[in-house]
Amino acid sequence: MSIQKLSSVLAATYENFPKGRFITLVVLRTTHSETIFRTEGSGEPMCSEFVQAGVNNDNIIQRLVMTKRKQIAPERRYGREHLRAHELLYTNIKDGSLCSLNTNSPCEMCVDCFLYGFAAGGGGAQKSRIWTEDAFSILPATDVVGDRTINAIYENGTMRDEKGNASTALNTSEYIKPGVHFLDVVTLKDVTSDELRYIIGNILFTSRYGAVSSRVGRMENQILGIFGSITELPSSLELVQATYDVLGKPLEHPLNTNQLITASKQVITNWQNKRGVSVHLSEAEIADLIADVETHWSEAERDNFLKCLSQSYEPFRQVAAEKKKAKGKGKNTPVEVES
Ligand SMILES: [Zn+2]
Repeated sequence: MSIQKLSSVLAATYENFPKGRFITLVVLRTTHSETIFRTEGSGEPMCSEFVQAGVNNDNIIQRLVMTKRKQIAPERRYGREHLRAHELLYTNIKDGSLCSLNTNSPCEMCVDCFLYGFAAGGGGAQKSRIWTEDAFSILPATDVVGDRTINAIYENGTMRDEKGNASTALNTSEYIKPGVHFLDVVTLKDVTSDELRYIIGNILFTSRYGAVSSRVGRMENQILGIFGSITELPSSLELVQATYDVLGKPLEHPLNTNQLITASKQVITNWQNKRGVSVHLSEAEIADLIADVETHWSEAERDNFLKCLSQSYEPFRQVAAEKKKAKGKGKNTPVEVES
């Protein structure tokens, strides 16, 4: 199985100390509906940056940005929904509350805490082993952002009230059009095979991103490449720029997804000769690995898979619990450790 091909860059078990094993996922994220990525509230423009168009093409263009927070937050929440459903979230020792995101009381014991990290107020901290960065749109922001004016509709379903007065515009709001492509590089550090399956599941099965995601923000993620190496590979920006150079001109929205995938794959094929890359999965091996992930996440195997993954942290949980207990009681109390 292709997950074994990655064994030289996978950790056999979870360890507290890093050992320089990197797995890089190249992800294509495509909007399937209107999508909104803003840093501030409504009325703010979409997140964007001025950058060089290509590696060779030195025109400056404004690209849309999908920040790391906009990627990771919904993907973590997806995984946590299942941890909750299988009763694998733990209670925080200090205040007795169940593990939750963006609070000062992570449980420090669940799969999500061990993998995506936490910084507890006054307590311990765990570095995230999933490194993300801003993803950039291929095309300039001006080509892929639309404006929508939202009008008040009266009870009678029209924009005129009973007296015939016209409705006033409530506001104008920017959105990212459907069919917009973002290229993204996700770096995983010192993960085990089950952790890799968990992370890939979170990426592939998360389907909503950005603001107002109950109505808009539908997005599809595809994995175009998987590498094992001893360091980080080129950034999302370098990938988007190199792909831009390869794509035929003129470019306009909507881009043909297949042409884009071919161009991106052409770029990442060159990565196998640089920056300490030791493993590069072929297309068939990626498909095989994704099938493996889907099997582990399937109805039949999910419970067992998530419980095994959770169980793998058990020795490290016991150590933490023992320390806290000893501290609380002011003396060392022996604690049974499961082996
Ligand atoms: Zn937790």
